[in-house]
Amino acid sequence: MPELPEVETTRRGIATVINGKIVRQFLIHEPRLRWPVPGQLPLWIQGQIVLGCERRGKYLLLHFEQGTQIIHLGMSGSLRRVALDEPRRKHDHAEWLFDDARFLLHDPRRFGAILWHAPSSGPLENHPLIRTLGIEPFDPLFTPLYLHRHLQGRRIAIKQALLGGKIVVGVGNIYASESLFLAGIHPEMPAGDLSLHRCEKLHAAILSTLQAALDSGGSTLRDYVNASGAPGAYFDIHANVYERAGRPCPRCGQAIKRIVQGQRATYYCSRCQRR
Ligand code: ZN
Repeated sequence: MPELPEVETTRRGIATVINGKIVRQFLIHEPRLRWPVPGQLPLWIQGQIVLGCERRGKYLLLHFEQGTQIIHLGMSGSLRRVALDEPRRKHDHAEWLFDDARFLLHDPRRFGAILWHAPSSGPLENHPLIRTLGIEPFDPLFTPLYLHRHLQGRRIAIKQALLGGKIVVGVGNIYASESLFLAGIHPEMPAGDLSLHRCEKLHAAILSTLQAALDSGGSTLRDYVNASGAPGAYFDIHANVYERAGRPCPRCGQAIKRIVQGQRATYYCSRCQRR
């Protein structure tokens, strides 16, 4: 699944190409995504200049004078630059054509979305998909104290609290397991029991885990943006525990454990990660 680092890398890749450029054509090839792609979207954005390309959580936001295109890559999607003459593939849902660039949204499992937000519907921050999002991990307001304050009183397991995305966005399944390992925190520990000191460790672990993924994304940016790999070819993350059940913990050598929390797999070391 594309996580925040993949989406941010996609954003950086496409922003350099499309900012300030005119959308010559927007084509909907298969409107069935998580929600149907609005049929009027071509009318709204064709001939319009891309004023900016931002990211909020895992949503890509393409800003135009008349509104914002909201794009989500779902479980298996990618938004890639392709050659002007490259044949379309099955599951290519939508296509953006610029004078010298072409992008395809590919999404075999159809959990992604392409939506439109007009200013007449109110501020973008109040959009139903955006307003429930937690703070951005690299926002200066996201601090150990912020984390500690928002975990207070929560009986939910810390792994679940992170994964929910309502406190901080971007800590998906891989990064939650990896961050908790780095911070030495047991994934089933009640979120509200974390001391400020452990929140400091967790905060640092979240930032370093995401930054490492962004750095690895930077090095693969070219491939990611320029249509080379197979669909769903996401970053190779150097994992300490994720999907390493039964293999030795890189810190202590004990076998990594796998448990299921909220139907998602969690990986951890029972010796290095304490409640
Ligand atoms: Zn260990």
